[in-house]
Amino acid sequence: MLAVSTTIESWYDSLALRGVTGANVDRPSHFHMFVGHLAVALTGKAVHRGTSLVWFVAAANLVDLIWPLLLIAGVERVRIDPGNTAFTPLAFEWYPWTHSLLMGVVWGALLAALALAWHVQRRALWLIGALVVSHWVLDFVTHRPDLPLLPQDGRLYGLGLWQSIPATFVVEGALWIAGIALFLRARRPRRLAGHVALWSFVVVSTFLWASGPFSPPPPDPQSLALFALLGWSIVPWAWWIERTSEPIAAASLQQR
Ligand SMILES: [Zn+2]
Repeated sequence: MLAVSTTIESWYDSLALRGVTGANVDRPSHFHMFVGHLAVALTGKAVHRGTSLVWFVAAANLVDLIWPLLLIAGVERVRIDPGNTAFTPLAFEWYPWTHSLLMGVVWGALLAALALAWHVQRRALWLIGALVVSHWVLDFVTHRPDLPLLPQDGRLYGLGLWQSIPATFVVEGALWIAGIALFLRARRPRRLAGHVALWSFVVVSTFLWASGPFSPPPPDPQSLALFALLGWSIVPWAWWIERTSEPIAAASLQQR
């Protein structure tokens, strides 16, 4: 654990992400459609309570977890373009392997296959696959037309909710609140650790999402990609939330 945090710290240092005085570099806290995907994951857990939240969080965010790896590998491209939409300074130039609809289906099938091998309940496999595909659908609502259906297709789609910061806050914020509420109908945090696990997740995610449009743009795509790798922390975080919460019995639901 110490080694991991030391590595992260050294990234921060080497990238000057700490916003060292004088350096005009600051947190490139730009996740795209971040809490919307998390809302879908929490909803998945509420729908299928017998399967760990880890699977649903990994599924709804899978292609965003793979995306920085392909950026670093030079397979996909992003450009820093302040004003690209009101909500993000990122121009998603080329990301067909993570963000085409067809590849969404492929990644969904792969994650469902992994879940099957992991002995996840069979009934949850379709939901896991569907949550991976839901990523494309939510991105379609928010992104300007930059999403392909097929990896090699020239036509791009997107409704561009991000053109408006207020509309993004209303729509994505409503999804986020609904997802949290549905999760809390299914599970209850246990003791202090449970509350810390869940609410730190909610607060940090909300902050990173809501501060995005008001943060300085990332200095360059490479540092953005390294920062985006921190997004993987949602996987152990979901595990922690799962471990420190307990199901709400159907009987106690009816009493309410
Ligand atoms: Zn995405």
